[in-house]
Amino acid sequence: MKLWVKLILLVLALGLGLSGYIYYEQKQLEASEIQSFEVNFNGTPIEFLDLQMHKPILGSLLTLNYYVHQDGFNDLDSDQMLNTFRVDPRAIVTITNDAGENIPYQESLVLEPGRYSIVVNIMDGIAQYDYLFHVDVDPQPKITLSDLEPSQGGLVIIDIENVSMNTDIEVISNFKPSAIHRTAHSAQFYLPMAYQSEAKNYALQIIVGEDVFDYALDVQTYVFKESHFTVPVSVSSGTVGNQDAVLQYREAIYPTYESYVEDVYWEGSFILPVEGARISSTFGEKRFVNNAANPTRHSGIDYAIACGTEVYASNAGVVEFADFLIMIGNTIVIDHGLGLKTYYEHLDDIMIKAGDIVEKGQLIGHVGTTGYSTGCHLHFQAMVKNQSINPDVLYTLE
Ligand SMILES: [Zn+2]
Repeated sequence: MKLWVKLILLVLALGLGLSGYIYYEQKQLEASEIQSFEVNFNGTPIEFLDLQMHKPILGSLLTLNYYVHQDGFNDLDSDQMLNTFRVDPRAIVTITNDAGENIPYQESLVLEPGRYSIVVNIMDGIAQYDYLFHVDVDPQPKITLSDLEPSQGGLVIIDIENVSMNTDIEVISNFKPSAIHRTAHSAQFYLPMAYQSEAKNYALQIIVGEDVFDYALDVQTYVFKESHFTVPVSVSSGTVGNQDAVLQYREAIYPTYESYVEDVYWEGSFILPVEGARISSTFGEKRFVNNAANPTRHSGIDYAIACGTEVYASNAGVVEFADFLIMIGNTIVIDHGLGLKTYYEHLDDIMIKAGDIVEKGQLIGHVGTTGYSTGCHLHFQAMVKNQSINPDVLYTLE
């Protein structure tokens, strides 16, 4: 045999011998051949791009590549909440972001927006399967408004889901929004419907990152009552007619219109601060005192009931102010979070102090008639920023 023939045979033999080690196949996989398991984002299954199977043969691993989808990425930008990633708990998961960094996998992982390569490794007997996914996580913000037809003096609570902590949120409205409470992937704020504003349609725009959301708030008419009554000079001269009282009131109360705690303490509906009372003055009432030509507006609800009746915190919160003021008597201000506050005035006594955290329904004082008051009653007021809202809307919150 000539040398060149031997060489060719040797090359063929080596090639055949090595083929067991470097065997490489690509093929389109039938759906029935796919080992059944599921990878999903918040319950929505996603499909993998390719499958690599490793089978032990001749003391080595035989690698088979199956290309299932080559037409792009799974694009998870629907309006579903699609950024929570789950796989079969038996799998080993390797996640790499666009920058090539490894993202530690954990149960119910929430992925920041971006592009990811995900390899899910599953052992089936002695064979191993590596499923490759490419995923664009682009969760769209989901905004919920508690009320699109609030009344004058009402409150709209706005919840935003699928928003990262560092995404800018801008609110464009005729009404002044509260501060915004941020968590890792959600946000909440309040929009008080100033009761002096006309009942009509108002545009509301919420800009989340680069996404713009437009709403129309159809503010409904609230029928404000009118009342005429007299206040003895002996009462008014020491309070509303007393310059020291006015200054003291401004110094103590005006800062509460802007301050806020960043946490949200309130939960569920607010409760009546007193039980069994008669409403002696309604929210926003136009009050003509001592035959005045122009009415003053009543910024809360007056609950008339015997002095000494227990007064409860309408919801959980932080006590911001608890002290006597010449103008409004013994006064408590509770911040329930983000500057949604309740005010309790004319109290007989105060049973908590500034800085305390109170529970919903906690006894905080007793009904009195201190300050600018002509009889035993609780003046109960709710505010967001410097705007009074109708306490009635708080009793029906969920
Ligand atoms: Zn009042």
